[in-house]
Amino acid sequence: MRKPIIAGNWKMYKTVDEAKRFAEEVKERIPSAEAIDSVICVPAIALDSLVKEAAGTDLKIGAQTMHWEKEGAYTGEISPSQLNALGVEYVIIGHSERRAMFGETDETVNKKVKAAIRHSLHPIVCVGESIEVRKGGQTTAVVRSEIEKAFHGLGEEEASRIVVAYEPIWAIGTGESATPEDADNVCETIRNVLSELYSETTANSIRIQYGGSVNEKNIDSILAMPHIDGALVGGASLDPESFLNLLGAVK
Ligand code: PGA
Repeated sequence: MRKPIIAGNWKMYKTVDEAKRFAEEVKERIPSAEAIDSVICVPAIALDSLVKEAAGTDLKIGAQTMHWEKEGAYTGEISPSQLNALGVEYVIIGHSERRAMFGETDETVNKKVKAAIRHSLHPIVCVGESIEVRKGGQTTAVVRSEIEKAFHGLGEEEASRIVVAYEPIWAIGTGESATPEDADNVCETIRNVLSELYSETTANSIRIQYGGSVNEKNIDSILAMPHIDGALVGGASLDPESFLNLLGAVK
């Protein structure tokens, strides 16, 4: 059985004070980590405060990106060992906004995934197609290629530590979520690709989230799908009550 995982992706929202207030408000009301992994991926400036705020609770903290090197002359970047030293547990890798606006490629995604695993972080690896790709009938080919490249060179045990987030780009921040059936079809394709790359057992152990305009209204139907093990949520994760309701949707 795969443990559900709901992760908020706050993007470039909230000051450190606002982030702390959010954590104070939700931390005692997070469902047990035995049943669900509840994560917020927050701006880098808030990581330290939130790891401290969430200590001893079921709330887990993640970063939204990182570099793959341990240290070095990379102005503005944050390294996996720095995240690890803070007590951060998760890191989003290859979000489509970073691929589109900050030069992230399948190659850097793969380097970052490997670095995250080396430093005992759980990577949340984002894949997904643009509207042009979907209309051109190339969704399966594009997602397959992104998965193959992200997992390149990783062994079975390493692969099973990865969380995949299927996020169709056209559904992100648009209010236009994929239908649960469409989302599940792509998640099933991802699982089949993982099964080819590894084994059915490993593929069945890897958690796959759906992301893209998930909210309190559509989360139930999304989580009901057999290949969807949780959600990566942007806008609807910013409000404490909304975030708690999303977690509460896990049965
Ligand atoms: P959204 O963002 O829920 O606001 O569509 C999802 C994401 O970018 O991860």
